[in-house]
Amino acid sequence: MTAKIKCLVTGGAGFIGSHLCDKLIEKRYEVVCLDNLITGNKENLRQLLNNPNFHFVQHDVVNPFTTKLDLLNQKIQYIYHLASPASPPQYRKYSIETLLTNSSGTYNVLELARKMKAFYLLASTSEVYGNPIMHPQKESYFGNVNPVGLRACYDEGKRFAEALTMEYVRKHNLDARIVRIFNTYGPRMQKDDGRVVSNFINQAIAGISLTIYGDGTQTRSFCYISDMVNGIIAAMESKDMIGEVVNLGNPNELTIEEIGEIILKLTNSKSSMEKYDERIGDDPDKRKPDIEKAMKKLHWEPQIDLETGLNKTIEYFKNL
Ligand code: NAD
Ligand code: UDP
Repeated sequence: MTAKIKCLVTGGAGFIGSHLCDKLIEKRYEVVCLDNLITGNKENLRQLLNNPNFHFVQHDVVNPFTTKLDLLNQKIQYIYHLASPASPPQYRKYSIETLLTNSSGTYNVLELARKMKAFYLLASTSEVYGNPIMHPQKESYFGNVNPVGLRACYDEGKRFAEALTMEYVRKHNLDARIVRIFNTYGPRMQKDDGRVVSNFINQAIAGISLTIYGDGTQTRSFCYISDMVNGIIAAMESKDMIGEVVNLGNPNELTIEEIGEIILKLTNSKSSMEKYDERIGDDPDKRKPDIEKAMKKLHWEPQIDLETGLNKTIEYFKNL
């Protein structure tokens, strides 16, 4: 029997990471999932924990990978680096951890990739564009980020992670790529992590009013989780991706008020929408990915429409 190709997924117990682990196992890889569980949950991995091709290691990427991490001493071909808090209330709560994870943590993961001569993927974010002046956002846009604002722990953390990754490409010829992930939703989002889709669905199910921050005219573009995972794997496995940066997201742009109305309709909820002055500093006014590059280079584009994706997510939260 030939040995399986091994992947490492940092942040694999989180929302996106756990779906990525599922898909990699389905594609017959051996998967090492490394997570410190700061915002993730082992429950997301329940279906994998008894699978002989799946290994969970509880470890903080900020700490060096010592020899106690036996699994990391064997050849790993693909490293997906997703570890980082991602929802605004969580990266505010864990602001210093977020900065350290994206800086020292990314350094440790890059060093591992260099030593293993692995293919490496950094999960970056649309937040590197900040409150964008260019709309929709193309990969060539440098962004509009406040380096000392309340979102800087995440935005600047990810910008540092991107810069460090590119130096490993230039100095060490590491086969690294960067994906800039736009708002993603689906089952296994944490019920209480404060993101708009999980908040609105759970408020609608509970029959309490939907919390609109600001006037609700700010926009986002929402991508369903299975599309995102397919895009991430395509970015890792496509040819000639060394040093490439690619947006992944669904360009279907909606105001926050519109997404609230759709969720109320799909849940048959009688809840109302209430406006609160609670936007976290520098909350982007608009966001929409330009995905031309992903379409051309990865032959990828989202397949799941909003209503289908929201219905699956509503079902998930109803069954929790
Ligand atoms: P999540 O919070 O559900 O998952 C992140 C995981 O990383 C968690 O399991 C957490 O415990 C783990 N983690 C955090 N710091 C760590 C550390 N120091 N060491 C080890 N593990 C650590 O978030 P998510 O939505 O699944 O996001 C995953 C990745 O995708 C993140 O890098 C995030 O920045 C990026 N991203 C997500 C979105 C989105 O809409 N969900 C959008 C843009 C970018
Ligand atoms: N938002 C909202 N009500 C909520 C949660 C979020 O109006 O209960 C708004 C938030 O101010 C932002 C948008 O919805 O403008 C998306 O927020 P989220 O935290 O989901 O992600 P972001 O794109 O800001 O990282």
